[in-house]
Amino acid sequence: QTIGQALDNAAELWGDREALVSPSQDVRWSWAELRERADAFAAGLLALGLRRGDRIGIWSLNRAEWTITQFAAARAGLVLVTINPAYRLTELEFALNKVGCAALVTATAFKTSDYMGLLGTLAPELATALPGHLEAARLKTLRSVIQIGGPKVAGTIAFEDVPALGGDAERTALAELGGRLQFDDPINVQFTSGTTGSPKGVTLTHHNILNNGYFVGRALRMTEEDRICIPVPLYHCFGMVMGNLAAVTHGATMVYPGEGFDPLVTLQTVAAERCTALYGVPTMFIAELDHPDFAGIDLSSLRTGIMAGSPCPIEVMKKVVERMHMGDVTIAYGMTETSPVSFQSATDDPLERRVSTVGRIHPHLEVKVVDLAGRIVPRGEPGELCTRGYSVMQGYWEDDEKTKDVLDAAGWMHTGDLASLDAEGYCNIVGRIKDLVIRGGENLYPREIEEFLFTHPKVQSVQVFGVADRKYGEELCAWVVLREGETMTEAELRGFCEGQIAHQKIPRYVEFVEAFPMTVTGKVQKFLMRRDVEERMG
Ligand code: ATP
Ligand code: MG
Repeated sequence: QTIGQALDNAAELWGDREALVSPSQDVRWSWAELRERADAFAAGLLALGLRRGDRIGIWSLNRAEWTITQFAAARAGLVLVTINPAYRLTELEFALNKVGCAALVTATAFKTSDYMGLLGTLAPELATALPGHLEAARLKTLRSVIQIGGPKVAGTIAFEDVPALGGDAERTALAELGGRLQFDDPINVQFTSGTTGSPKGVTLTHHNILNNGYFVGRALRMTEEDRICIPVPLYHCFGMVMGNLAAVTHGATMVYPGEGFDPLVTLQTVAAERCTALYGVPTMFIAELDHPDFAGIDLSSLRTGIMAGSPCPIEVMKKVVERMHMGDVTIAYGMTETSPVSFQSATDDPLERRVSTVGRIHPHLEVKVVDLAGRIVPRGEPGELCTRGYSVMQGYWEDDEKTKDVLDAAGWMHTGDLASLDAEGYCNIVGRIKDLVIRGGENLYPREIEEFLFTHPKVQSVQVFGVADRKYGEELCAWVVLREGETMTEAELRGFCEGQIAHQKIPRYVEFVEAFPMTVTGKVQKFLMRRDVEERMG
């Protein structure tokens, strides 16, 4: 199937049920209406001269227009290039040129307040300089800029004017095209989060992401009765695949709580829209649980959801089950390169397993755990996680070198993550190979130390990483964010560790900080923390 066919299915099966709700935009569309809007927009895109295989970028926060663009691009056979809204102009230029985008859909006025509370204020030039930039001929392939909302900017086309561009000819062309598109056509280029360095453009097909959306929804036992609250960004697979494509394949409703992440608005939207599922990275769930108004909000409609993207602390998972009514919550593990999900717990897995592992391998995927030499390690031992199957990307966009580094000739994706599988196949993510600390020849796993330090009542969050050391090769450093109003000394934290964890696991350096450097997806960028400490140490 293609994504366009999935949309037809949804419109046929669940026609007048709600497909998309975006309360801040007053949007409440049925599947039939969403299909009609996507088709009209797709016809307009054809009228603009876009052709099957052309690339169209989208650079916007979560809005209903995002999703119209996603489905319209799929129906017109265009490759949707999803661009991080936090990118500054130079990064945008890089992304657009790298993938050769012919069109860009963007919003004039990005929210200037905090996006996910982490981004700070976006540069004003982001909103205004784009048209000027267009003329500057640095964007080599870009021909059209489609503008969502805001005052009209010269040289751009208003989003709402696009459908009217398409006439009967385009409608006919679109209908014909629908039958010719192939499920293994590339349909999407996504950039990885950039947690370990520069983001990489990943080429994905209908087959990759539509199936993944389907199996993610199936693991949550989604039906057309479900309403998924999606505060995670759409430009990332968490929103556009695990959210939107899980919805279209099961008839569930997509509910967007707003443009940027706001814990209170998210909780209020769950309550007002009676959402049954809530998604988030661990930092989002922590912010929601810690919100002073949390107790007063009725979350009784919630049943399930997904926590994913980075290590999910057991304590947080337990709270999500107990205080947010999410008895069917699951953890998912994946990466952009695998569409993204490859492991996910099932709603009927024992709770203990569900909060402490990333579950078992998804249907139709294979897994192996190997050592440095590529030999499969005994069950229970950590090694590099490799996956294979329908969800593995075509490759990094026009970058055979980098693709060969991770994707071998037999089709195995080498994830760069350390994991162990237990006897029943439940997977425990130990950490990234890049984050592994080798101190005096001994492997230390930051994740394990973080879990322990996190149990200190004054600690709100903590990150452990390695810094270069002359004597031991590497030494452990911990960055700690304390709970509001608390104070602590380095000695106090180290004292807490004495006798509780092996002495070599006690961080040599402890620093108290306000926040960690993070990607927009809420992932902690340890490479920046390491660089910071090493620079100060000289
Ligand atoms: P980059 O590849 O650019 O450095 P990234 O790897 O963070 O960034 P993504 O593809 O968004 O980019 O994230 C995939 C990674 O996220 C995985 O390789 C893994 O390290 C981490 N991850 C995802 N889910 C989980 C999870 N449930 N538990 C632990 N880690 C996870
Ligand atoms: Mg990665």
